[in-house]
Amino acid sequence: MEVRIAENAGFCFGVKRAMNMAWDELENKTSDNVYSLGPLIHNKQAVDKYKEKGLIEMDSLDKIPSDSKLIIRSHGVGKKIYTESESKNMDIVDTTCPFVKKIHDIVKEFSHKGYKIIIVGNSTHPEIIGINGWCDNEAIIINREEEIDNITFNNNDRYCVVSQTTANLESFDKIVSKLKSKIEDLTVNNTICFATKERQLSATDLAKEVDCMVVIGGKHSSNTQKLVNICKNIVPTFSIETKEELEKSKLEKFKVAGVTAGASTPDWIIEEVIEYLKEI
Ligand code: SF4
Repeated sequence: MEVRIAENAGFCFGVKRAMNMAWDELENKTSDNVYSLGPLIHNKQAVDKYKEKGLIEMDSLDKIPSDSKLIIRSHGVGKKIYTESESKNMDIVDTTCPFVKKIHDIVKEFSHKGYKIIIVGNSTHPEIIGINGWCDNEAIIINREEEIDNITFNNNDRYCVVSQTTANLESFDKIVSKLKSKIEDLTVNNTICFATKERQLSATDLAKEVDCMVVIGGKHSSNTQKLVNICKNIVPTFSIETKEELEKSKLEKFKVAGVTAGASTPDWIIEEVIEYLKEI
C-alpha cells in the first residue's frame, strides 16, 4: 500500500512544549509528589509513559496534598486553580499553551471592562472550563449555530466572543455572523490556533488525493475528532489510537492511504501506523 502523510500532523507546538516541560520536571525530580490535574494530554499511550516515570494524575485539586508540585496542562485552567494551589503552597509548573494563555488574557481584560463573554466551543472541554474561569464562570458557551436561537441578548450590553483553539473555522464564522445579526456591540476574537487550521487544511488536501484516510489520535481529543469528521466527508476514514485497531481485511481494497494525526499524537505512534500500512 502506498502511504502519504499529511504535511502537518501530530504534536503541535503547544503540546510538544508542555510534554517536554513535564518530562524535564520528572527527570530532574525536585519533589516526589509531582501531580497533574487530569491527563496531561488526550493520548492514553503517551500519558502512560509519564505515569511510569512517576507522574501522579488527580481529577481534583482537593485530592492533591499541600506543598506538592503541580503541572498545569497545555489546556490551561481557570484563575481559581492558581489561587487555590498558591494557598496550598504548591509549586506550579505551568505548561499552559501560550495561545490558550492569550485567550485567558482577552477574557480577563474584556470581562473587567464589563463585556459579556461568549465562548465558541464545547462546554465540557477542559480548555473551555479553564477559559470560563477567567470571567467568573459567567460566559455564554455556544457549540452549535442553532443554540443561538435560545439565547436572549441585551442590546444595552457589550459582548466579546472568543473561540476554543480547536474550533472549526467554518462553524466559528457561521456562529459569528449569526451573533452579529443579533448583537449591536460585538468584539470578535478568532482565537482558533494556527496548528489546528494547518492540520485541518492538510488533512482536507490529502484526503482528496488518496483512497482512504487513517486519522490517529485520542478518542477524547477534540482536534483529532474534527480531523476525522473532515476526512469522513471526503473518503472512507479510519479513526484509531494505535495500529492495533487497524484491520487488514478492511484496508486491503485501498491502493493509497493518507495518514494524519491529532495534535496530541506522539511521533512514535504515527510511525508504527505508517509501517503497518506499508506492509499491507
Ligand atoms: S493546538 Fe494550538 S492552542 Fe492547542 S496546544 Fe497546540 S499550539 Fe497550543
